[in-house]
Amino acid sequence: MCAAEDYPARTAPGTRTVAGLDARLVRCRACPRLVAWREETARVKRAAFRDQEYWGRPVPGYGPPDAGMLITGLAPAAHGGNRTGRMFTGDRAGDLLYATLYGLGLASRETVTGPEDGLELYGVRVTAPVHCAPPGNSPTPAERDTCRPWLAREARLLRPTLRSVVVLGGFGWQAALPALTRAGWIAPVPRPKFGHGVRTVLAPEDGTGSALTVFGCYHVSQRNVFTGRLTRGMLREVLAEAAHTAGLPVDPPAPG
Ligand code: SF4
Repeated sequence: MCAAEDYPARTAPGTRTVAGLDARLVRCRACPRLVAWREETARVKRAAFRDQEYWGRPVPGYGPPDAGMLITGLAPAAHGGNRTGRMFTGDRAGDLLYATLYGLGLASRETVTGPEDGLELYGVRVTAPVHCAPPGNSPTPAERDTCRPWLAREARLLRPTLRSVVVLGGFGWQAALPALTRAGWIAPVPRPKFGHGVRTVLAPEDGTGSALTVFGCYHVSQRNVFTGRLTRGMLREVLAEAAHTAGLPVDPPAPG
């Protein structure tokens, strides 16, 4: 375990594989407030999960190391990813995301429960710009910046195959674009604003790699779904476009 504030900045850039990055990431304790929160949440637990052992550590990205498409939110949920140890797993937001990926033929399961459920993602990786659950789902700008090297390196390692990114929510958008520019792409100036259905193309900084298309999508939060701000159809549409951009085959919608 490493509590040094510069641990991500020192460690992530030199890491040569996605698996190696994940292994280093889960040892990170660079943000004292988030470390305290993730561990306190894991100790106290929610009543419905009192018999379960919480993960209580940084949650790494999930999916193949040669993914063509990346989905990124903001941070793991206290009783979701922070409980199960897998991104978007164990809460309603993740249930919707994975069910929609399954409907597109991009995931092996419609329902997910935890790391033992056998979920496979096809050409897609899910991650976050902040890897520890924050109080109130709200990391500070300093925590977001401290964590940035992990996502920047993850995107850099995926760069040979990565063609599209879906960013869930405006806070995630603000956090993801600087990480993607650090990973080797150039964002337009002025930086495009977040919106559902917005898309922007980042050029490769060295002129030789592939461009990256970034899609904005309302977050899959329960609030957005309950209020109708985000419907399953809207989510499906953005994910399908991003998959198409990445050259991933997508199943047609189910009849009816
Ligand atoms: Fe480390 Fe990121 Fe967690 Fe901060 S939020 S402790 S930088 S993994």
